[in-house]
Amino acid sequence: MKNILKVASTIILPFALLVLAYFFANNTHTLSQPQLELVRLAPYPIFLIGGVLSWKFNRSREFFLLLIFTLSLASLQYLRELPGAGGEVSVSELHSILCLVIPVNVLIFSFFKERGIFSLWGLLRIAFILAQAAAAVWLLNPDQSVILHRIGKDLLPVTLRDLTPLSQASLIAFVLAGIRLIIRQVSQKSSQDISFIAVLAGMLYVLHSEYDPIRYAILWGVSGIILITSIIQDSYSMAFSDELTGLPSRRALKQDMMKLGMNYAIAMLDIDHFKKFNDTYGHDTGDEVLRLVASTLREVAGGGRPFRYGGEEFTILFPGKSIQDALPHLEELREKVAKRAFTLRGKNRGKGKTKRKSKSASSRSARPIYITISIGVAQKNEKNKTPDTVMKSADTALYRAKKKGRNCVSK
Ligand code: GH3
Ligand code: MG
Ligand code: MG
Repeated sequence: MKNILKVASTIILPFALLVLAYFFANNTHTLSQPQLELVRLAPYPIFLIGGVLSWKFNRSREFFLLLIFTLSLASLQYLRELPGAGGEVSVSELHSILCLVIPVNVLIFSFFKERGIFSLWGLLRIAFILAQAAAAVWLLNPDQSVILHRIGKDLLPVTLRDLTPLSQASLIAFVLAGIRLIIRQVSQKSSQDISFIAVLAGMLYVLHSEYDPIRYAILWGVSGIILITSIIQDSYSMAFSDELTGLPSRRALKQDMMKLGMNYAIAMLDIDHFKKFNDTYGHDTGDEVLRLVASTLREVAGGGRPFRYGGEEFTILFPGKSIQDALPHLEELREKVAKRAFTLRGKNRGKGKTKRKSKSASSRSARPIYITISIGVAQKNEKNKTPDTVMKSADTALYRAKKKGRNCVSK
């Protein structure tokens, strides 16, 4: 339930912001002139904050997109005022260049790996963006209008002029970028791609309409806010969830332990002979097993909340429950893990040493592998009064379970 809410808020938030931007952009007639001027300038501090955050959290895709947004919006707002620029004509030409530059860059940057901002790779990417800016200025030169005209020509055997003023090249770039982001989102499930999809939709909407300083500033500014919220959301989930298994991390456990009330039980779980498993099947396969165990633990009933404590150890909190309440659910978990067959997926995963290991492992894949877990559980009582001591007691119980021969629950 908590997960569904989290996913829903991640998906809904950026689009809700877009809808707000839409209504705001269509209701600016009540604003006074100074207020309008404020709205027109608002995107720049937003971009600056986004730029600093993306730099601090090492999110170069957001950083580069914000850089492109800053250059694009500033050129639309100020290029006309520069001496020598060609007045109204240059705005429509600049507009048609931006309609292509924005989706193409979103598309290109979605293929780049995270390589930092002020690293060599990052600087090369910044140079790439600045080169595009220089090319755009060159294209705006009246002598080059032939090239722009050619870019604006229909590529498909149909005309879409009645539907949108955007060129077909730009529409194709938007569609390709959208498809690419959706594929990335489905395979990687990060809130980053959802926010990029929302920003792309916002850009398509705003560029589809003629240049209007206020409408453009609002949509551009909100796009900046969407990128900022995604950076914050991802950093938050990075801090509180375990990267490998997706379970809440030890930091989340520490926080939840402080919220425990008068009665509670705590269980410590540990995979049996996991060192030997790693030695036999390789570390990558070990990681897959950790994910499998975590997915089983996620199904825990009786109000239990699972966490990855560290390594191959997990913790389950049972707020308001006693050992007797928790026992049947822990027993059920233990049995589920023991019965769940693990079949090795794929072959030749990894490189070098691990490659050899997984090769030898894949030859064993004919038979399913089974693993077991041992569990120790303790509750709050006269002797153990704090979550920390209850946890220690659960750890001692776990040790007893191991001594008893593993694959069992001990209290
Ligand atoms: P026991 O039944 O007594 O628990 O034996 P064990 O081998 O599981 O116990 P031990 O604590 O000595 O070994 C834990 C091993 O878990 C060591 C390490 O190789 C493995 N391990 C810890 N964290 C990870 C991880 O993130 N990925 C993988 N693949 N292995 C891990
Ligand atoms: Mg251990
Ligand atoms: Mg172990």
